Amino acid sequence: MPELPEVETIRRGLGPKVVGRTLERAEVRFPALVRGSTAGEFASRVRGRRVEAVDRRAKFLLFRLSGGTTLLVHLGMSGQLSYWDHRLPDSPRFSVSPLTGLQRTPSQHPVDRHTHVLLHLDGGDRIQYRDIRRFGHLALADTGSVEGLPALRRLGIEPLGPGFTWEAFSGALRGRRGMLKALLLNQSAVVGLGNIYSDEACFEAGLHPRQRLERLGPGALRRLYAAVAMVLDQALGAGGTTLRDYRRADGSHGLNQDRLKAYGRAGQPCARCGAALKRTVVSQRTTVYCGRCQRLK
Ligand SMILES: [Zn+2]
Repeated sequence: MPELPEVETIRRGLGPKVVGRTLERAEVRFPALVRGSTAGEFASRVRGRRVEAVDRRAKFLLFRLSGGTTLLVHLGMSGQLSYWDHRLPDSPRFSVSPLTGLQRTPSQHPVDRHTHVLLHLDGGDRIQYRDIRRFGHLALADTGSVEGLPALRRLGIEPLGPGFTWEAFSGALRGRRGMLKALLLNQSAVVGLGNIYSDEACFEAGLHPRQRLERLGPGALRRLYAAVAMVLDQALGAGGTTLRDYRRADGSHGLNQDRLKAYGRAGQPCARCGAALKRTVVSQRTTVYCGRCQRLK
């Protein structure tokens, strides 16, 4: 599932290519991915609008369109949003695994049965939305009301960028109770960490994923703050983590999967102490941690 560094990498890849361009036509091939309107209404509402900016709030990509409309795109579990350049060939090596249905070749792909929405731009290029599991969605909203939408209004602070200060972080965690990993996953204090970066942040901070928040002292909270910033910055710098579906806007893989220290490494030696990493379940999610470096307090 794409988490914050992956969505931000896509935003940075798409922005320079699409800002200033006009959406000439939307082609919705799987109407159920459009929320809040019919596919026909969606297409007529975006037609002829210019892309003024590509922003992001948590894991929502926000295409600011002329006329005060915002196109929201959420990638769900397996969404891929890519730029298709009419001057470039589709990869001749493109193939889909008959077993998993996943795209194998990391490059510009032709429209296939998993490519559900095409946003045709002036000049013949397009934005392609491909989603094998189809848990993602697209929606339109008035730009002025986006922050108040039910899916967005209760979101916590953004961990990328200058607003992620110690004051903001400690304020967002003040008075919180319950398990550390559950809080990181639920997006109410800090947004953008899913299963991968929650495990990575707990590991970096030396905190057990089941650690009770109300027992954490200021020193531990400081370590958690630094760890959240570090794992997300590192992942963003590496262009995100590609385990299965995630691709950058140009179709290429991220590189962060080789840098993970906890996620997916159960049974392998801890990078810090050498002990075998343990696997457990927290908030119904598989969780990996070091029993020696991440003790409950
Ligand atoms: Zn260890």
